[in-house]
Amino acid sequence: QESTRQWQAADAQHFLHPFTDHAGLARKGARIITRADNIYLWDSEGNKILDAMSGLWCVNVGYGQQPLIDAATRQMKELPFYNTFFQTSHPPAIELAELLAQVTPPQFQHVFFTGSGSEGNDTIVRMVRRYWDIKGEPARKVIISRFNGYHGSTMAGSSLSGMKGMHDQGGVIPDITHIEQPHWFEHGRPQNLSREDFGLIAAGWLETKILEVGPERVAAFIGEPVQGAGGVMVPPSTYWPEIQRICDKYGILLVSDEVICGFGRTGHWFGCETMDVKPDLMTIAKGITSGYVPLGGVMVGERVARALIDEGGEFNHGFTYSGHPVACAVALANIRLIQQLDLVRHVREDIGPYLAQRFAELADHPLVGEVQSCGMMGAVQLVKDKAASTLFEPDLEVGMLCRAHCFGNGLIMRAVGDRMIVAPPLVMTRAQVDEMMALIRRCLDLTLAELHQ
Ligand code: PLP
Repeated sequence: QESTRQWQAADAQHFLHPFTDHAGLARKGARIITRADNIYLWDSEGNKILDAMSGLWCVNVGYGQQPLIDAATRQMKELPFYNTFFQTSHPPAIELAELLAQVTPPQFQHVFFTGSGSEGNDTIVRMVRRYWDIKGEPARKVIISRFNGYHGSTMAGSSLSGMKGMHDQGGVIPDITHIEQPHWFEHGRPQNLSREDFGLIAAGWLETKILEVGPERVAAFIGEPVQGAGGVMVPPSTYWPEIQRICDKYGILLVSDEVICGFGRTGHWFGCETMDVKPDLMTIAKGITSGYVPLGGVMVGERVARALIDEGGEFNHGFTYSGHPVACAVALANIRLIQQLDLVRHVREDIGPYLAQRFAELADHPLVGEVQSCGMMGAVQLVKDKAASTLFEPDLEVGMLCRAHCFGNGLIMRAVGDRMIVAPPLVMTRAQVDEMMALIRRCLDLTLAELHQ
């Protein structure tokens, strides 16, 4: 269509996109998304697409939810902006802080608002170091995170992230170091070990790193309960409790990056509850507003909050949009809707187990080497040889082939290398899970057929 070509030309001429190879984009032209409803998108050609990624893991309540739209409209009329600096506040931010204290685990009674998850993780780095300064241990600066984790694109966020491709572009800020992720399949599926024993060994890499750095220099450990952008890596059940034990042993702050896992995605309000750990700090964003408007934050547990409030004086940190009134009003409507629709229980007791069951059925497919899921997140590892669990040569870009078939067949699924992942809206019905699974199977078949051509 003419309008699509015009959009694509203007896009290629003026728009530098995040995480995009622009040479490829210029060749193919961007897919222009024009509207959305429930779990579906429509592009400028009128094609209907099932959005199995909830946008970027964020549209937890699905598209087109009237209470969120009304909340934004009302708030824009009433007070479209005011800041929360210098001893001022406003009702939407206060009410949201109060509601967050109710839905998060009990150690969290305070929130620091940011504009995004990346800003949240930058705030974590500064806050953690501030905490140890206040406590008279300024040498504790090192933050340990994991390879293949994703914590954002700001300087601190990309440094915490464990992606080599990011570190190569811009470097890593000082005093951040990484350990391996607990991915059983990638570590060669050691046949002499149960997944649970592997989880304990993988958590032990944290202790090794702490001893290497020197415990008196380590400030915090940060991880995603289930690694999202790294490929939906669901850790063994033993992993997180052992991480907690190690952090406690050395007095190190434990940070849970809940940007993806928060607000119901894993079947509890927060991923740390699914993994049975009690973090000192949590990064939140995405699902807090279901992505309708940008908002992020840091949930601050009592240990850190008391130090900041009672002993710290002024914390010289904040953003123009910290606690933006429109974003807070939308977050309030979103969280209340999650409560009203009982979405967290829906994920834990109904749709999450159903998705797990239907995902497990994919294990019989010749291309599939491993299937994992947790709540409304799932991953399918594509393999060259199922029996021997060998992976395809990276140059073949099999994941990208599969992704192209998804695109062509009205399904948005992400490829992380050769791992195909989904994180659909939490409002999905069983019939919609069936619809998604039929599309996934068709795209796997088409990929297999293309490889055998
Ligand atoms: N942390 C995690 C776990 C994420 O997945 C993301 C984004 O995908 C971020 C942080 C960064 O959030 P934002 O893109 O809002 O800056």
